[in-house]
Amino acid sequence: MMSVLLKMAEDLSHLIFPRNCIQCKSALTSDENLICSCCMAILPQTGYWKDGENPMYKILHARCGITHASSLYFFEKQNSVREILHHIKYRNNQKLAIRCGEIFGHILINENSWFHDNEFVMLPVPLHPDRMISRGYNQSFLIATGLIKAINGIVSDEYCERIISTSSQTKRDRYDRWINSKALFKMVEPEKISFKNVLIVDDVFTTGATVEALVHTIEKHEPKSISVVTLAFTDS
Ligand SMILES: [Zn+2]
Repeated sequence: MMSVLLKMAEDLSHLIFPRNCIQCKSALTSDENLICSCCMAILPQTGYWKDGENPMYKILHARCGITHASSLYFFEKQNSVREILHHIKYRNNQKLAIRCGEIFGHILINENSWFHDNEFVMLPVPLHPDRMISRGYNQSFLIATGLIKAINGIVSDEYCERIISTSSQTKRDRYDRWINSKALFKMVEPEKISFKNVLIVDDVFTTGATVEALVHTIEKHEPKSISVVTLAFTDS
């Protein structure tokens, strides 16, 4: 019975998610999801984990205290990274979020000694409860679930919560957003991050305002360090 249900669920997911690669249009194998392994391997990686002073680090470091900041892919309007993010965020492709996190986790652990040598408490950027109800899942939590398969530590979406929804902020200018974002989050279990290496996980890094707000919330509770990783990076 279970296997019949699983098969039905898989057939259904094939209807929801295209079974041809979004980039090269070749047929996907049953292990592949949205994009084939060959195209996934040539997506534009930032390589930021090999450069401690990378652009993402510089943006954040100027505004808050962080140890490391990295992103896996460059997000551009015309590339497949945009489509992957869209599926992860709005099309319920939860498996792909986990898979991307896993890929990034293996890269970080193999190519960056900070991630290789330390244990982390991963905090996915929380969604506001209203958003959580409408979307049904937090994509950043799923990305963290993939990361933790490679990186040592724990992941929890219960230590921190979002107390203000930011959807109404889209039209405000950057400075306004920055000020506003200061009380976006609240630590529910602050003792879980004290003296720990905290790793903030998000889907896309754009202005950094949301991440900055979370860093300011976390740093009040004496973490050993705070680092940030996202699946994609864009500065436009
Ligand atoms: Zn392909």
